Amino acid sequence: MTNFAELGLAPDILRALDEMGYVSPTPIQEQVIPLALRGGDILGAAQTGTGKTAAFALPLIQRLLPFANTGTSPAKHPIRALILTPTRELAIQVEESIKTYCKHVPLRSLVVYGGVNINTQIPILKAGVEILVATPGRLLDHVQNKTLMLTQVNTLVLDEADRMLDMGFMPDLKRIVALLPAQRVNMMFSATFPEEIRKLADSILNNPAFIEVARNATAVTITQVMHPVHHERKRQLLAHLIKSRDLRQVLVFTGTKLGCNRLANELNKLGLHADAIHGDKTQQERIKALDAFKTGTLRVLVATDVAARGIDIEALPFVVNYDLPHNAEDYVHRIGRTGRAGAQGEAISLVSESETRYLRDIEKLIGSTLDPVIVPGFEPGAADVPAYQSRAPRQPERHGERGAPRGRPAVARDALFDAPYVPSDAPLLDTAPVPLRQPPKKQVAALFRSPVKPDTAGQ
Ligand code: AMP
Repeated sequence: MTNFAELGLAPDILRALDEMGYVSPTPIQEQVIPLALRGGDILGAAQTGTGKTAAFALPLIQRLLPFANTGTSPAKHPIRALILTPTRELAIQVEESIKTYCKHVPLRSLVVYGGVNINTQIPILKAGVEILVATPGRLLDHVQNKTLMLTQVNTLVLDEADRMLDMGFMPDLKRIVALLPAQRVNMMFSATFPEEIRKLADSILNNPAFIEVARNATAVTITQVMHPVHHERKRQLLAHLIKSRDLRQVLVFTGTKLGCNRLANELNKLGLHADAIHGDKTQQERIKALDAFKTGTLRVLVATDVAARGIDIEALPFVVNYDLPHNAEDYVHRIGRTGRAGAQGEAISLVSESETRYLRDIEKLIGSTLDPVIVPGFEPGAADVPAYQSRAPRQPERHGERGAPRGRPAVARDALFDAPYVPSDAPLLDTAPVPLRQPPKKQVAALFRSPVKPDTAGQ
């Protein structure tokens, strides 16, 4: 097995890695570090959790050692390396890693992102930083205010490029790249490679080495399970799974900000300490929730895809897809939050009938099928939420949910959340763990077709 010293890293960097407990390089580090130390451009196909941050950061740091701040007259505009990330969370996390890797070398780093007072960032930039981690919008704010200059940048890293594309950062990226010196090293990482990403790579990278680690594949250490369930029962099923299996540090994904808030509120009412993070939360609120989640005082963090991007928690054990993502590649990103750097993790998807088409896309992308596991009491054909029937509007087909038995109005998802919580009669919560029932392999869609008679088959 290769060790970090054999990759050609300097003793002061090796010392920091040793202190962090990094024993041997991950596959992407093994491939990227020697190439990047030689100054070649790199296109990396790697999802979060593979160790890609160290893969680009370590050689970048080593190549900047000649520019290290020796304490004498810092250059006026000394930014030498620019790392762009799609979200604040990822930017913060990348810069935290860089600070740790730079513990024994005199290189200065800073992270700039929107949503916080720009004035606090200016004095630090003035004093001089060699490595800047930024989200595109805030970087351009600084450029416009002339509070930083990019004329000395010799290394550009685009992290999670596909997400930058999804978030509409392409025009900003182009503007930023146009401000950089032509002579520079470029590294671009992306979990997925749609056409636009390939075009972007062509326009930015110069004869890059293509390095691929588990592209579009989910990490082998992640156990993936999917529970078919009527959409009206998802919230109760989630609470049931968390309570009966005593799950802790559960990251739950919802499709919308509204759904995110509502689910967190409902889980709190069900006695599960939960908080929500999404784009409408302030940076302070997000940091507070993330810190509580990381330290384990917050049991459930409900998040939208954008807000969850870049969350890095050592060995995050559980990720739940409360709503399946409409874009299959987001599934790979989501479950990349768990089973990180070799740790075990479990990705749980709650799938209602109207989501089976998204499920098929996901299975196509990851190249395997997710075995349906029915949780007794939550059979997918049965809505069985009597408490809501009298309140809910009669909109049986609105969300394409055809699983409700005849005579029972299906409840639109939003209406369900609007209704005050009234515990259902079903023995869902605070019960002893129930064994999961694995049905014979069959078409997932068929599971939704007819209401399953409670707890008969396969017991
Ligand atoms: P990343 O994919 O860069 O987000 O890294 C995922 C996690 O793996 C982070 O918590 C890193 O600190 C950790 N990590 C990265 N490289 C190594 C390594 N060689 N050995 C142990 N942990 C690592």
